[in-house]
Amino acid sequence: MERLIFATNNTHKLSELRQIVAGRFDVLGLEDIGCREDIPEDADTLRGNALAKARWVAERYGTPCFADDTGLEVDALGGEPGVHSARYAGGPGHDAAANTALLLSKLAGVPQNQRTARFRTVIAYIDCDGAEHLFYGVVEGEILAEPAGNAGFGYDPVFRPQGWDCSFAEASPQEKNKISHRGRAVAQFMDYITNQR
Ligand code: IMP
Repeated sequence: MERLIFATNNTHKLSELRQIVAGRFDVLGLEDIGCREDIPEDADTLRGNALAKARWVAERYGTPCFADDTGLEVDALGGEPGVHSARYAGGPGHDAAANTALLLSKLAGVPQNQRTARFRTVIAYIDCDGAEHLFYGVVEGEILAEPAGNAGFGYDPVFRPQGWDCSFAEASPQEKNKISHRGRAVAQFMDYITNQR
């Protein structure tokens, strides 16, 4: 099976990707290619970060590679945390509980009908000629008053997709992948790669 290198060490993202492309591609993460470095992620856009991560790996390892960057945009907070979603609560980042607690505290008192939000994902793919390709995915929804569910990761327990009666963290991985920001971006990426054959 053809291999695809995903510039991430996030085991949740890897398992989502593997599930989405199961049977079509073998997805390797950074650990699988022996990369244990922290890739700089200091651009001020999702697109910039996704491109920087994919290019960083493609150049050092001499291989096609893709990366994603995701942000949660909350309308009542002027689009925050957006590109700062991973390090919203400060510190080295990826402290999901602290990020979620900060988000809920900033939204305290905001009525449910004003808690609209969306996850936005950008996937950047650097191909074997070093050319850049970008794919986008968005899912609309709202921020719950308190976390619900244990599946998924990050902000999933407080995000309820539009038309759903439960959070992403209360859904199965298959249900989340079908409509999620990452699922939608990956679907476009897969269409592109498949049509290259
Ligand atoms: P990054 O794309 O790894 O930089 O993620 C940015 C932030 O969004 C991190 O705090 C992640 O935990 C969170 N995040 C990324 N993807 C998802 C998702 O699918 N669900 C919930 N949170 C996510």
